[in-house]
Amino acid sequence: METVKTISELRAARLILPQPVGLVPTMGYLHEGHLSLVRAARSECASVVVSIFVNPTQFGPTEDLASYPRDLLRDLQLLEKEGVNLVWSPDVEDMYPPGFQTWVTVEGVARPLEGSMRPGHFRGVATVVAKLFNAVQPQRAYFGQKDAQQAVVIRQMVRDLNFNLDVVVCPIVREPDGLAMSSRNTYLNPEERRAATVLYRSLSAARQAYQAGERDADRLRQIMAETIQSEPLARLQYVSCADADTLQEITGIVSGRALLSMAVFVGKTRLIDNFVIGEENHAPGN
Ligand code: AMP
Repeated sequence: METVKTISELRAARLILPQPVGLVPTMGYLHEGHLSLVRAARSECASVVVSIFVNPTQFGPTEDLASYPRDLLRDLQLLEKEGVNLVWSPDVEDMYPPGFQTWVTVEGVARPLEGSMRPGHFRGVATVVAKLFNAVQPQRAYFGQKDAQQAVVIRQMVRDLNFNLDVVVCPIVREPDGLAMSSRNTYLNPEERRAATVLYRSLSAARQAYQAGERDADRLRQIMAETIQSEPLARLQYVSCADADTLQEITGIVSGRALLSMAVFVGKTRLIDNFVIGEENHAPGN
């Protein structure tokens, strides 16, 4: 496994990689969720590139950029075991040199949900992912359904800017008690960690109601909100029942594929999670 830092080193190493190349963009502090993307890439591509970059432009001024967990050595050991070909961990100054002034702004699908709670977040995400795509030139790029809106935003950017690659979205990897794996789970103390299962319980309650025939979007949102509110350590930021493709909030009846999603503070830690419902009406993989 080769590791590189600068864009010129990356370009040189990329030239000799067997094709097709799969890219897995990450912010490091890797867990099984990240490794599931690496394994998907490994199984579908001749070589796998993993980028590790805590991208400052996707963090808001009051967010956790400074405290975001980092452990590059451990990450490299994990990736070596997965048979990764190339790891790229650029410095901030290399990605955003002085005078940087070009941004990628996805409009409609980046506006609701996380976009409305985290102004500028998806501009930072789309810009850095465009830069990763341009530098690595992968044939496939792997993202997690954990960040459902991010996957929709990236697909939109790829379509709109004609990036010549396939976006692959992989299922959410969870802890045995249902908590979606996240580098931010490390912020939780033991009591908060127990309380954090409320996101999964809340999504499960709404899905159960849906499976029992409930189709009223307001009612599904209410079930999720009430479950979150039953947990004293949790503070709801938003719950949503939205069209899974457009991310527009559903008013009235849920008919096609819907994204149930939420952001919840457990103590000071902001957690997100989601389920997709209504997939039985679609071909597998859609
Ligand atoms: P991050 O390091 O948080 O930026 O995540 C890098 C990639 O891993 C993103 O595409 C995430 O959606 C994905 N990811 C993070 N957590 C999970 C998880 N629990 N299951 C599946 N994918 C995940």
